[in-house]
Amino acid sequence: MGLIGANLLRIKQQLPPQVDLVAVSKFHPVEAIREAYDVGQRIFGESRQQEIEMKHLQLPSDIEWHFIGHLQTNKVKSILPYVHTIESVDSLKLLREIEVQARTLSVRVNCLLEIHIAAEPQKYGFTMDECREFLSSDEWKDFRQVTIVGVMGMATYTEDENQVRKEFRLLNTYFHELKTAFFPDNKSFKHISMGMSGDYPIAIEEGSTLVRIGTSIFGERE
Ligand SMILES: *Cc1c(COP(=O)(O)O)cnc(C)c1O
Repeated sequence: MGLIGANLLRIKQQLPPQVDLVAVSKFHPVEAIREAYDVGQRIFGESRQQEIEMKHLQLPSDIEWHFIGHLQTNKVKSILPYVHTIESVDSLKLLREIEVQARTLSVRVNCLLEIHIAAEPQKYGFTMDECREFLSSDEWKDFRQVTIVGVMGMATYTEDENQVRKEFRLLNTYFHELKTAFFPDNKSFKHISMGMSGDYPIAIEEGSTLVRIGTSIFGERE
């Protein structure tokens, strides 16, 4: 077994059973993905449309592709036929476009609402007020193709573990607020996607159900 396979298995051993691993393969070649696939990994995360498009064609069809980067509305149509989950839904415009295009293509897709939790000014993501307002409207209840399966967030890039923990805890609180208010009997709304190579142990302690790990599996990106 190569280094990638060994890294992956070591990380998987550390994950509690309720936490799924998204292996973030962006910027790494298909051979690297195959190495992870060969030790059993099936969920992969990519952040650029062109790259995921090229890679999915060269890899087995039982891979569950998660899109985790900022997605422009004009790229939605091309990734929908094969993408399983869009974790980085950061605007209503984008969410609406995903539902419209998914109807046209007759495909289903899972979506996570990306919520802004970091202290640093982030370019993308909903505020909680925007989430509350949108989910209070009935619009999303008519979605047929899109299933809203949870929330996603990124902590501040800092050495300060307390700050990172506080932000993950906040996302967990947000998740439970939304769950109680808008998804009380909805089993699909269940994911808190948080934690990357540098902070996933903290994220797990704070309730993550989905960690997105790249560097610790595949090494540094070029
Ligand atoms: C790149 C990326 C990751 C993985 O980051 P690593 O530090 O390499 O583990 C996770 N989430 C998102 C949204 C990313 O863009």
